[in-house]
Amino acid sequence: MESPQQPSGSINPFASPSVAGEMVNVVPDGYQVEGNRIVGGEKIVLPEICAKCCDKGHETLNSKRRKKDLYWIHPAVYILLFFQIIIFLIVYLILRKKCQLEYSLCRSCSSRVRLNWLFFTISLAIAMSGIVIAIVMETPWPIVIFFLGLFAMIYFAVCANGPLLVATYSNNKFYLRGGSPEYLAAIDVHVDATSPVSAILAEDGRMG
Ligand SMILES: [Zn+2]
Repeated sequence: MESPQQPSGSINPFASPSVAGEMVNVVPDGYQVEGNRIVGGEKIVLPEICAKCCDKGHETLNSKRRKKDLYWIHPAVYILLFFQIIIFLIVYLILRKKCQLEYSLCRSCSSRVRLNWLFFTISLAIAMSGIVIAIVMETPWPIVIFFLGLFAMIYFAVCANGPLLVATYSNNKFYLRGGSPEYLAAIDVHVDATSPVSAILAEDGRMG
């Protein structure tokens, strides 16, 4: 991404510090905060505030931008799971609604997420070894190891995922849950403060 120089850096609260190669101008866009939900369309760009701990990370220097595709499907479709998983998958792929989410995590939250994925992989290996031991020893008790690994996998996957997930979808809008009250308050303020900046940037042709 190019690094446009802000003509007047004081206008934009998101203006990055003047460090070559580190400048990423993020113009929060496509969302509003309603109650405890972040509401937006197919693309939601959240400000450079850590979505987990609300750390502003000196704007860009200590935060990492993350892009994630979130999906939503009407809960009734899950009933198909009881009949035919293949039919469920086909219907799921056809009917799912996609939201491109862009948000920030500070470096420490980022590494915590990576650590959780590492634990997830280790848990997977433990679960698999339970099955292998059960087969090799021809005894059922190592299945306990499998279930322990499975529960650990679910736990670490939940920890590594998020924090923002789709709560519901209606009238072509995604309602995201998982933002802490502090985070919602912080990003709500930012949108109000930057709306005029978005317009200016758009006229300059720098942002979409
Ligand atoms: Zn953080």
